[in-house]
Amino acid sequence: MSRPMSLASSIQAESARLAAACTGCGACVEACPMPDFLGLAPAAPPAVAAGMRAALQGAPVSPEGLAWVGACTRSGQCNAACPEALDVALMLRLAGMRLKGALGEPPRLPVPGDAGWAARVKAFARMTLTEEEQARWL
Ligand code: SF4
Repeated sequence: MSRPMSLASSIQAESARLAAACTGCGACVEACPMPDFLGLAPAAPPAVAAGMRAALQGAPVSPEGLAWVGACTRSGQCNAACPEALDVALMLRLAGMRLKGALGEPPRLPVPGDAGWAARVKAFARMTLTEEEQARWL
């Protein structure tokens, strides 16, 4: 029986798969309600979407990309707009995780300062991580 993929490997593999499937058209950004609130209206939607793709690839991310990923409110408008039928909400979530340092990289987005957050994550992680992962990360 093969070992289950680690959480980090899973995040990396899914990020790479989705980034490769994205054409960078920017339709998700156009459908999103947040760019207007962020003052991103002048930025071209494909350029903003490129920031999300870059985050999924672990590459440098533009300020517009950081702002968009960081502001996601999970409206889901992006999913309906994607001509490739990608789960853009998931892409944004994975990009956000990576930009907050989920794979051990320096955080590029602020990590919420919730005192009970770490304890809740640990409790959940103990139920889902392998013993090896728990020893390394908890
Ligand atoms: S709409 Fe889909 S294909 Fe176009 S940039 Fe967004 S995620 Fe990529």
